[in-house]
Amino acid sequence: MREPLLKVRNLDVYYYNIRVLHRVGFEIRRGEVYALVGESGCGKTTTANAILRILPEIARIGNESSILYYKDGRDPVDLLKLPEDEFSRDIRWKEISMVFQGALNALNPTIKIKAHFLETAKAHGIRDKKEVYKRAYELLSAVKLEADRVLESYPIELSGGMKQRVLIALALFLNPKFVILDEPTTALDVLTQREILFLLKELKEKFDLTYMLITHDIALVADIADRVGIMYAGRIVEESSVEKIFYDPKHPYTIALLRSVPQIGDFKRLPEGIPGEPADFRKLPPGCPFHPRCPEATEICRQKVPPLIDLGDRKIACHLYAKEKVS
Ligand code: SF4
Repeated sequence: MREPLLKVRNLDVYYYNIRVLHRVGFEIRRGEVYALVGESGCGKTTTANAILRILPEIARIGNESSILYYKDGRDPVDLLKLPEDEFSRDIRWKEISMVFQGALNALNPTIKIKAHFLETAKAHGIRDKKEVYKRAYELLSAVKLEADRVLESYPIELSGGMKQRVLIALALFLNPKFVILDEPTTALDVLTQREILFLLKELKEKFDLTYMLITHDIALVADIADRVGIMYAGRIVEESSVEKIFYDPKHPYTIALLRSVPQIGDFKRLPEGIPGEPADFRKLPPGCPFHPRCPEATEICRQKVPPLIDLGDRKIACHLYAKEKVS
């Protein structure tokens, strides 16, 4: 088994007094792709922002939370305890970087792409323009863009797929080891989505990267992820290998998510929507937060939150399996 790179433990996040993450815990191993999957608003991006320490000011992290990062395989540092100057000097963008959600609008339309690289470099104390352009050229070539032309272009002159490639190149500028990809293919057409996914795979091998992929689109996960954590209402509800999640899902929410996307080759079965509304953190129901939408719900589901238990081949938070384990 590969050595750990990141261990998130008991991560609780509150916005004012509303709890949006509940004891979130998972481990990401060096060189793997860990996908965090769930509907919009389930807490995936909040988890990523907590790792990169870019939560909004109103956010508060629970006292028992920790995010251990194993830099160079050495003793881990708790990212939540590092002083901000140390974190921004040694970790943010240098060790851990992120391709942000909605990134197609993230480039400043008034400056050329080369200026984006210069700004990124300047923010990290690199002022040698020649060095910056050399690295930008290498990275833009690595993301399969015509580097000379793109460096001299304004964002408006680039297609959505090209902008996404530029953003990936910018995220790799300081040579990070761990990259968080927050909905990296959203807002792109299907063909461009596939191209970006293939590119991400190629970059992972070339630069020896570890990814955390955040997406609401479970179909995109099959191609790239090694392990998957399914999130619902700020909790991990099932976690396993990508094969187990796709071919033997157990949690009713995972099953519903899989049924909500078209299956290649299965022309008879139409995608089924998940009934009801996604959970509202301001008024979560008692018991299992999925119970108002769950076809398997029983009385205990309306009363008790199911704990996350280890079944050996997966972790799962569902009373159906808690009973199975006890008996
Ligand atoms: Fe459904 Fe109950 Fe399992 Fe929640 S605990 S997912 S309501 S069966």
